Amino acid sequence: MLEVRDLQVAYGAAQALWGVSLEVRPGELLCVVGPNGAGKTTLINAIAGMLRARSGHIVLNGQDITQLPAHRFCEAGIALVPEGRRLFTGMSVQENLELGSYLPHAKAKRQETLAQVIELFPVIREKLASPAGELSGGQQQMVAIARALMARPRLLLLDEPSLGLSPRIVGDMFAAIRRINADGMSVLLVEQNVAMAMEVSQRAYVLEEGRVVAEGVPDELLARPEIQRAYLGV
Ligand code: ATP
Repeated sequence: MLEVRDLQVAYGAAQALWGVSLEVRPGELLCVVGPNGAGKTTLINAIAGMLRARSGHIVLNGQDITQLPAHRFCEAGIALVPEGRRLFTGMSVQENLELGSYLPHAKAKRQETLAQVIELFPVIREKLASPAGELSGGQQQMVAIARALMARPRLLLLDEPSLGLSPRIVGDMFAAIRRINADGMSVLLVEQNVAMAMEVSQRAYVLEEGRVVAEGVPDELLARPEIQRAYLGV
């Protein structure tokens, strides 16, 4: 459903991606892992339309969206849960969620989608009127994911959803991500938590210094000595 072909992205003179190609298949939960500074955030932000590609292509369901303005990426069916969540902390949880569903097709189904995200994250129901900034880190991450889902995307992009969360909450978060995918959503997950990301994903890419250095099914990747050494501390 998503094809990234030979993508190059730079910040001025500093090139961060050097010809990245990857594919998200329909209904797939795919992860991109790699160390700090590998270019994971750059990649996901480019796929979300927040950063311009210097060259290469981003194709969603056959439509080349590479040159579309940022706001059209959401219309095309891509929703990003950014690193650090970026909620409007002074606004209520409900207002944050409503902002996620501002496009006409999502607005028309706002109540239905709200019921779905509350089913996924029951704690949201009792927090709807609370300022988002008063929620715990884990709850804020749930709201950030719920806000993206309110747009009724076809592809959900998640940038380091485990960042800064306690191990127990991380487990809950990945369980929720797995459930979202099981309900039919295509998901692209970017993570430094390699073990967790590999456990929930159907396929994985390893990014290092702006290049894909390995790809495959998690079990096969995790069996490679160089991956074990680099990412699992073996
Ligand atoms: P992290 O896990 O730390 O977020 P990452 O894999 O997501 O790492 P990126 O944040 O995409 O990596 O960074 C890739 C490269 O681009 C790094 O060398 C980084 O220093 C550089 N970079 C990122 N953002 C900018 C920016 N706004 N201006 C200049 N260089 C940047």
